[in-house]
Amino acid sequence: MERYLRQIVFSGLGRIGQQKLLESTVAIVGLGALGSVAANLLCRAGVGHIRLIDRDYVEKTNLQRQILYNENDAEQHCLKAVAAFNHLSKINSEIVLEPVVAELNAVNIEQIFENVNLVLDGLDNWETRFLMNEFCRQVGIPWIYCAALGSEAMSMNLLPDEKYPCLRCFLSPESGSAAGQSCATVGILNMATGMIAAVQVAEAVKILTESTAEIRNGLFVADLWNNRFKTIPIEKDSDCPVCVHRRYEFLRRSGGFRVTRICGSNSIQISPPNPVQISLETMAKQLAKNTDTNNQTKIEVSPFMLNFDNGRNRFQIFQDGRAIIENAGDEMEALSLYSEYVGL
Ligand SMILES: [Zn+2]
Repeated sequence: MERYLRQIVFSGLGRIGQQKLLESTVAIVGLGALGSVAANLLCRAGVGHIRLIDRDYVEKTNLQRQILYNENDAEQHCLKAVAAFNHLSKINSEIVLEPVVAELNAVNIEQIFENVNLVLDGLDNWETRFLMNEFCRQVGIPWIYCAALGSEAMSMNLLPDEKYPCLRCFLSPESGSAAGQSCATVGILNMATGMIAAVQVAEAVKILTESTAEIRNGLFVADLWNNRFKTIPIEKDSDCPVCVHRRYEFLRRSGGFRVTRICGSNSIQISPPNPVQISLETMAKQLAKNTDTNNQTKIEVSPFMLNFDNGRNRFQIFQDGRAIIENAGDEMEALSLYSEYVGL
């Protein structure tokens, strides 16, 4: 308990609050700018069990705002979940940290969110947020939405209570992605992501410790460049497909290969329709055999990831059959590269 003394003396938490934090399990989905701040704060605050979920690896352009990582992680293309685990383990070795290298989907969400008391959103895509919204509502897990772009950031508590709205009450899948803006086109300030992740964690700590303090109701929006801070009241939609009619379209969705552009990079990710287990060692040998006439080819294999470069495209291939392909012209080309090198 000694390491937490400075927050135990804070009257809002005390020893009882600290004990509740130590007994809590939190899942952080996405370990980019938001998730790396949230993970750092939760780890130091002594949340007893933190599940660190991310599909991606560290790149140099991440370092401006993803405060858990360093140049070494970027040079070695470390997986974010693994790099976060390594760094956080040195900060607090007395809690359980669990790296999960995966993309959250309708098939694995139940397993990944097993025994979780609260979920923090560190995502960069709407589809996974809507999936999370449906699952958390269905099983009754509170989650905290968080997003940032440019100098603006927002967060909202989404509590699994009949009287509160869910994400779908005020955002539809169409409106979520229609803006067409991303951190690659509009940019993003590390002050905005750092501040909003701290706001998100403060609410998380209040919820986990069942605090008598006010838990925010409504959408908190901040613009650090223009000094604007407000909380927008959000009404529950009496016709909401998710929290009123209990129709879970994202949870039911499965089927073909999923192709997604990775925010802020020149990469496209291909995910197989169902999780598979592939042997990266075997695949590396196969690739070496099939491409041995091309001396530009480079293959590296680690327990989590296979790195393959055909001279034009770099491939990161994971055990679950996912691949991130750099420099593919478009989604169709990425799929055909996947089919050529990974196999359908
Ligand atoms: Zn709703």
